[in-house]
Amino acid sequence: MLDGKIALVTGGTRGIGLATARALAEAGATVVLTGRDETKAKEAAAAAGAASGLALDVTDAKAVSTLVRGVAKEHGKLDIVVANAGIMEDALLGMIREELVDTTLSTNVAGTLHTVQAAARAMMRKKTGAIVVLASIVGEHGSAGQTVYAASKAAVANIARSAAKELGRSGIRVNAVAPGVIETDLTSGLTEDAKAENIGKTPLGRLGTPEDVANAIRFLVSDDASFITGQVLGIDGGLVL
Ligand code: NAD
Repeated sequence: MLDGKIALVTGGTRGIGLATARALAEAGATVVLTGRDETKAKEAAAAAGAASGLALDVTDAKAVSTLVRGVAKEHGKLDIVVANAGIMEDALLGMIREELVDTTLSTNVAGTLHTVQAAARAMMRKKTGAIVVLASIVGEHGSAGQTVYAASKAAVANIARSAAKELGRSGIRVNAVAPGVIETDLTSGLTEDAKAENIGKTPLGRLGTPEDVANAIRFLVSDDASFITGQVLGIDGGLVL
């Protein structure tokens, strides 16, 4: 399905990023996985069947640009980029600290933007490519105690919608996935009561797995999705927030 494709996944050391790197590699792509920590990135790459694991902090625009250019140069092209790196910290409105605003927006919004910009530059030469960014059901509907995260993920969804409009004529598709509650380290702080409440509001009657999201991303970056761009695809079991 993805034979001969060169793919890059940010924040790939665990959770949805790791599952995505594995899914793309299993589908035949040559995958470069990145993480903040080089050792963890190399270990994760080996575990996922990725070609290499590199250190990258997505908040560093110059580092993102240099790494993406380097990957495209080494492999002669770049077909697929998944801007997955992200953080989530809950805080009620009255408890939101400036530092939380800064770290969330610089990682989720600026980090995604840097990745999409660098990907677009690398893909522009061949006039083909597929980019997926990680939005969230929370960014589409809002969530009490998650105002900063929700705002950041609404921005991510609109990065996909806007970039898709700008890059379509260059043969580059940009889509977002908006997962519901997926069982990863990011959501490991949820109490059993909170999990049960979410499952109760989910028609499919369970929480999501990283593979649920990875499989949808694999579809979106494949040629099977060749006429799909600018979409925000919910992967949430029908969860109603
Ligand atoms: P996770 O915490 O397990 O993994 C996130 C990854 O991003 C980690 O590898 C982390 O090291 C990396 N990362 C964080 N900041 C980074 C930075 N500055 N530079 C590079 N890497 C960085 O989380 P996950 O659940 O796998 O989430 C992956 C993405 O999916 C995130 O963008 C998250 O917001 C989004 N998402 C997750 C859920 C969920 O329920 N788990 C729901 C909706 C959206």
